Amino acid sequence: MDPILPGSAVGVLGSGQLGRMFAIAARQMGYRVHTYSPDSDTPTGQVADVEVTAAYEDLDRVREFARGVKVVTFEFENVPAPTAAAAAECAPVRPAGEVLHTTQQRLREKNFLSKHGFPVTGFRAVRTAADLRAAARELGLPAVLKTASFGYDGKGQRKLASPGDVEAAAESLGGREHVYEAFVEFEREVSVVAARGPEGAYGDWGVVENTHRNHILDLSVAPADVPTGVRRDAGEIARGILDQLEVVGVLCVEFFLTRAGKLLVNELAPRPHNSGHFTIDASVTSQFEQQCRAACGLPLGSTRIRQPSAMANLLGDVWEQGEPNWAAALALPGVKLHLYGKSEARPGRKMGHLTALADTPAEAAKLALRARELLTSS
Ligand code: AMP
Repeated sequence: MDPILPGSAVGVLGSGQLGRMFAIAARQMGYRVHTYSPDSDTPTGQVADVEVTAAYEDLDRVREFARGVKVVTFEFENVPAPTAAAAAECAPVRPAGEVLHTTQQRLREKNFLSKHGFPVTGFRAVRTAADLRAAARELGLPAVLKTASFGYDGKGQRKLASPGDVEAAAESLGGREHVYEAFVEFEREVSVVAARGPEGAYGDWGVVENTHRNHILDLSVAPADVPTGVRRDAGEIARGILDQLEVVGVLCVEFFLTRAGKLLVNELAPRPHNSGHFTIDASVTSQFEQQCRAACGLPLGSTRIRQPSAMANLLGDVWEQGEPNWAAALALPGVKLHLYGKSEARPGRKMGHLTALADTPAEAAKLALRARELLTSS
């Protein structure tokens, strides 16, 4: 298969920060970038060559968009299946629509993982109160009940700790499909961001340790301080998943690491991931450049990490007292600022991130947190 060469146009469905960082990487390599979403003046549109503002359901516009580019990729997994299919009539879509289909619904994703022998916590499909009670009996409590579709950053999920919680939840299922998951007493959460090319070439950035706050990623540290065996297993699982799904592009595997040192796959994201943002500053090849290389059929770049690093997210909350003190944070050596061009800083909204580079992962984490603290100092 001939590669799609620099100078060609690549299309991104979606227009958030992931598309923005993809567009910056693709343009650096000489590609033109077109973005498609219902919004305008978007994080991606601000740095793309062409910003198309249209509904995902407008399939004629989607086809027209795909005809104008050599390959279509996406930056969020809730692109409707018919949209991906319409684009695929006119240009290759990478990763393919089937990858989206599997990963945009929790139950389908969990079934895929367990069917192929990837380790997951016990789960049951739940639609009715009777299903829920049966799941609670079989898997026990505590548990987490999640809506099967359109959940992210902890949205659409709740912890069930007691039989009373189960009964309360039974009232509010609304006939919608849910997943009942046995609660994992994890020691830490880690992830592997990986890429696969059209001919099966594979690369990942190793294991990253993630800390969440209010279900939203707060801090990622790379490389994670985990035993060699865990590193090896996590890489093998990630590689197995990308191969099995025949991913062409980037995919993140989020894991729970239990106290016994066992890895359980929590979720897949078939695109660059927040926990891989550190690769922009710390790796020879960023996850976004890799997405571009994979989608265009070019050789994957080196995923070597040049320096330990940590990434701290900047949510809208940082703006609560007015404009953050950028100068104070940037005065720290080794601190890099990434802002996504969003005009409205709402609490909980991902506005940007800081990356800190240091001699050890622990120092990098300290530096990233210190830099973020300084943003709200006077
Ligand atoms: P998710 O949206 O599935 O990634 O879940 C968001 C966060 O909720 C995870 O990062 C965990 O911190 C927590 N969580 C989700 N599922 C479970 C589970 N089965 N056991 C324990 N914690 C969970």
